[in-house]
Amino acid sequence: MNFLSTVADEIVAKNDINLSNLHIILPTNRACYFFRKALVEKNKLLWLPTISTLSDWVEKMSGLKKIATLDEIFLLHSIYLQSGRAESLDEFLPLGRTLCSDFEELDMHAVRMEKFFRDLRNLASMKVYEPATELTSSQLDYLKFWERFEKLYTELRAQLLAEDKANSGMMFRLVADKIESISEGLNNFYFIGFDGLTKAEETIIKHLHIHNKAQVFWDTDAWYVKDAEREAGYFFRKYFKTWKGNMPYCENNLLIAKKNVEVISVARSVGQAKVAVELITNRLKLTDNNAINTAIILPDEKLLQPLQYLLPSTLSSYNLTMGLPVSRSVSGEFMLLLFKLHESAERLATRTKKHKLYFKDVVALFQHPFLKVFAKENELHQTIEEIRAKNIVFIPKSFFEKKEDLFIENILDSIYHSSDTSVYLSQISRIVNLLIDKFKRVESREIELEFLLKISDAVAAVSKPLLGATIQPKTIRALLSDEFKNYRVSFEGEPAKGLQIMGLMESRCLDFKNVIILSTNEGNIPSGKSTQSYIPHPLRNELLFSHTQRDAKTAYLFYRLFHKAENVFLLYDTEGNRMGGGEKSRFILQLQYELAKQNTKFSIKEMVYSVAPPEIKIAEPIIVEKNEALQQKIKDNVTYGLSPSGLSTYINCSLQYYFRYVAGLKEPEDIEENMESNTMGTAIHHVLEVLYKENIGKEISAEWVETIRKDSALITTLLKEGFSEKFDEEALLYGKNNLQFRLSLEMIYSFLANEKRRIEEGQKIKIEALETPLETTFGVAGMPVKIKGFADRIETQNNVLTIVDFKSGKAKNVILKEEEVAIITNEPALRVQFQLLIYAWTYLRMNPNLKQSIQSGIFWLQKTSDGFDNLTIESNSLLNENILQPFETELKKLLEDLLNPDKPFVQAEDIERCKYCPYKQICKRG
Ligand code: SF4
Repeated sequence: MNFLSTVADEIVAKNDINLSNLHIILPTNRACYFFRKALVEKNKLLWLPTISTLSDWVEKMSGLKKIATLDEIFLLHSIYLQSGRAESLDEFLPLGRTLCSDFEELDMHAVRMEKFFRDLRNLASMKVYEPATELTSSQLDYLKFWERFEKLYTELRAQLLAEDKANSGMMFRLVADKIESISEGLNNFYFIGFDGLTKAEETIIKHLHIHNKAQVFWDTDAWYVKDAEREAGYFFRKYFKTWKGNMPYCENNLLIAKKNVEVISVARSVGQAKVAVELITNRLKLTDNNAINTAIILPDEKLLQPLQYLLPSTLSSYNLTMGLPVSRSVSGEFMLLLFKLHESAERLATRTKKHKLYFKDVVALFQHPFLKVFAKENELHQTIEEIRAKNIVFIPKSFFEKKEDLFIENILDSIYHSSDTSVYLSQISRIVNLLIDKFKRVESREIELEFLLKISDAVAAVSKPLLGATIQPKTIRALLSDEFKNYRVSFEGEPAKGLQIMGLMESRCLDFKNVIILSTNEGNIPSGKSTQSYIPHPLRNELLFSHTQRDAKTAYLFYRLFHKAENVFLLYDTEGNRMGGGEKSRFILQLQYELAKQNTKFSIKEMVYSVAPPEIKIAEPIIVEKNEALQQKIKDNVTYGLSPSGLSTYINCSLQYYFRYVAGLKEPEDIEENMESNTMGTAIHHVLEVLYKENIGKEISAEWVETIRKDSALITTLLKEGFSEKFDEEALLYGKNNLQFRLSLEMIYSFLANEKRRIEEGQKIKIEALETPLETTFGVAGMPVKIKGFADRIETQNNVLTIVDFKSGKAKNVILKEEEVAIITNEPALRVQFQLLIYAWTYLRMNPNLKQSIQSGIFWLQKTSDGFDNLTIESNSLLNENILQPFETELKKLLEDLLNPDKPFVQAEDIERCKYCPYKQICKRG
């Protein structure tokens, strides 16, 4: 018998048929539904009890009205402004969202806030404390942030309570604090099927339980509860030990019952959905009449859409209450594409003062299947063709004026009038209404229509609080995109009929004969360690759920599904691209190596499901012979000058070099929406050059470095200057750009801290030159070949002249074995060493009279400790003409190869080399 049915039996046995004075509390709505059904099945004449979820009951008891998250963020923003900050809603949005979720979590765990804020301040000041140094302005800012955290929490709470409103966390804390008075006169509670409880939940349930007002039914199994090592029993062992009163409900199925488990590895989400569908149709032979005993569990909701599309028509009813967020629907995708088009048009307008559209966005939108349904397909196609044929990268409005489609006209119109909040919102709304109108008239499009109606609701929800406000369009888009994740369309048939599809949390209390769990990858089950939060880890671990406790909760949900199941299919993605990285969950390993060994009736099989690989068309090899014109072009190039990165490209693949440097084929163009590392590098170089300019020819002191390091205003201004070519100040305030900007600041501070440390440890650093060209001409095959590069800085380190390159990428080692010199011009992995050698070699050729050896090194800007690495050949960092002779020989061979008219440009044999190549489309290698 399943868990809910057993509990229903006990309750009926104890209370007879009049259950109307009982309060039954369960964790989910679906569990409530099935429990009610179980009671009715016992006796149709029952007087049913009150049945609700814990959240609903708490909300009722709190007497408060739940505030929508969006409204809460708006309110928090107004409080933020009152605290003296000037951030607009745009800037505040990501911060506000995370703060609201942190505040809610703190309340759910009934954290003592006075102590929490005290600990928070102590932690923050420990982090910025450095003996005998004054705090920099960014360190002071950091401290102030935490002070504001306290004020925001207190004020938000006060203002919400003044209006009889609260978020869910506040309601739980309030009811937990007053549970004694709230429960006065209340009796006969049954809490069924709960698992790891937050502090507030625990206080409520435990109080009612120990005062004999409630009976608690746990849905557990002895296998993981009795063994202190098993994480799934973590919370229950604590409750069983410390809660007095009624005996907990604990069965012993996992060790004795027969279970058939199949672990199936399959590539990609679609592959998993296909296997799941194959299992339900061919293996389990499900129809509408027998599917109720089968559940498909989706820990990752991304699989919902492929699964839904593949479900066979023989299963007309299925229960999918978890719903699909509109952001994942075709309509949602279309709206997000439209937003992208708006966004890049605005960015261009800010930079160039011209209203133009980026061709890629237009093409993506016009190719969207959704648009084809009602726009004139021919016209869309012709428009795309015309853009391509005329090679229009930025499309002016005039281009669309002769187009006839009213819908396209409306879509495009919205782009050119987006500066006014209410106008922009009404334009979005108009587009959605136009779509709704169209879809109402198209047959068999009910699902899209449902999604569009939800999108319309989301637009209305965002518009309401913004009435009369002046908000930038990008904030409106961010708010809408966020709401699209929250608004869902449920596909709910008759809940007690058909296949049950749900998330892991929703499966609590429910038992099925057949269970199919998708995405059983490490990183999904359990879900990895990343949490979007401002609460520092030490406090999070002490006061909220720690990682271990979160994993314990997931372990319980996973093993619970095995309680009554006879057949369990665990599918995992072999190409997982999230945290799981294609690995199966460790819980599967525990099943294999522990449970299967203890229960002889527990059979576990591993299978590989191979989806037929896509037909691969073998592309013709590309060979470019060096005809006379090409030979001349190559000669021109080498006379003009070859850079180390050009040579590295040639080493990687001669055809790639041809595309880039000979044919002049531009790398696929894109608007730089977020900073790329090149832009960051250029900006950081600019800052360091300006800061150090005054020291050319001088030895730098630790005091000077420290003075500079403290001048955060100067550093910030210079960094903005460094970015100004690509981004205006505003673009640096948001999202990824803002993060990268701050990362660049961090790199500069860390560079200066390292510099100071190097000097304090006794190194004498004299700046010889900054941003200096390095050039030499070299005779190869009777031709003068110019090699040219740029040294970021030339310094003397304890009297040894050192050429320094700043790199913002990830640090690599720069050690070279002697034998590796012979392969350096054929091994892309030695790219960094190649560059350092070429700098040293060029410098020595430029200064033939130099008698001393020199060094060539890198300052890794991302490395927080000891960022400097000098190239070493067999542990020797000193380089001179003799040591570099073998390198020169190899370099010469490489250049001879390039100049050789009989050697065509060919594709790299090793396909790994194509991984980051921008021309892989041409070569059909990716
Ligand atoms: S895709 Fe590969 S073979 Fe083609 S140019 Fe790039 S690196 Fe060379």
